[in-house]
Amino acid sequence: MTENIKTVACPTCSAAVEWRIENAFRPFCSQRCKLIDLGAWGNEDYRVPTEDGLGEDQAHAL
Ligand SMILES: [Zn+2]
Repeated sequence: MTENIKTVACPTCSAAVEWRIENAFRPFCSQRCKLIDLGAWGNEDYRVPTEDGLGEDQAHAL
């Protein structure tokens, strides 16, 4: 009956997030929300993964 899963609110979108080990993005609901919170969207260090494959920036990061 008792579930030991703690639920937190995503700091970015306030969605309910289960605090599980498997959730690598906790306390965020997703990687996207985590990145938004970190301000990575406005930072050229990060590229949206839905872009057309690996660009030169990706290779440069290696
Ligand atoms: Zn979220």
